[in-house]
Amino acid sequence: MSTPAALLVALLATTVIVAVRYLLVSGALHWLTLRLRPGHVADLGAQIRREIGWSMSAAAIYGALGGLMLWAWHHLGATRIYTDWSAFPWWYAPLSLAVYLLVHDTWFYWTHRLLHRPALFRRYHAVHHAGRRPTAWTAMSFHPGESLVGAAILPALVFVVPVHVAVLGLVLTIMTVFGATNHLGWEIFPGRLVKGPVGRWVITASHHQRHHENYRCNYGLYFRHWDRWCGTDRGLSAALGEEKG
Ligand SMILES: [Zn+2]
Ligand SMILES: [Zn+2]
Repeated sequence: MSTPAALLVALLATTVIVAVRYLLVSGALHWLTLRLRPGHVADLGAQIRREIGWSMSAAAIYGALGGLMLWAWHHLGATRIYTDWSAFPWWYAPLSLAVYLLVHDTWFYWTHRLLHRPALFRRYHAVHHAGRRPTAWTAMSFHPGESLVGAAILPALVFVVPVHVAVLGLVLTIMTVFGATNHLGWEIFPGRLVKGPVGRWVITASHHQRHHENYRCNYGLYFRHWDRWCGTDRGLSAALGEEKG
């Protein structure tokens, strides 16, 4: 197979993987919602169909950039992705995980705040907020312009910060699980965790739900520190359980 054809096959393959991952994770959480909170999605059929449509376009963009990253790794050796655990001391793996999550969260917070500027919001971010209330399917419901911005950071980071391929897989898993559970419209984690020390710094559905209710607050992805430092943290959604303390 010629190089362009092989590259195209690689990009299509990663797109299918991203799309299937979304359908499996959001589908499983949708099934759980039907069992535990059937009223939450009962009247949202049309919204969910639209969200799945936008998410398929997002999967193509995330898949294309992810595929290019894997291509650069495999065929050009141009990234800092490594497979030999002994290449770095043992403590580097958790450190690199923390760096990837913190950089991703920082990128998301600031680009998300920008996307709430009125002109950018109307053009790019209104898609994500179009639903009457978030569902497991809202997680990847993005306009292609927003997908491009959101999908760019991790493939760019692998050229700069060394990361074991398994740690990178863990980052992608955390991204997928946080994205879907934060949009459930109900809290999947125990109240003690959400309202305790962990919930003060880590974002769950109770926090992101408030962003979908009030728009101009709670912009973070994984952590609350940027929202706290910048005065944009408005606490947890009252609908999902009032924050204490
Ligand atoms: Zn959202
Ligand atoms: Zn938003």
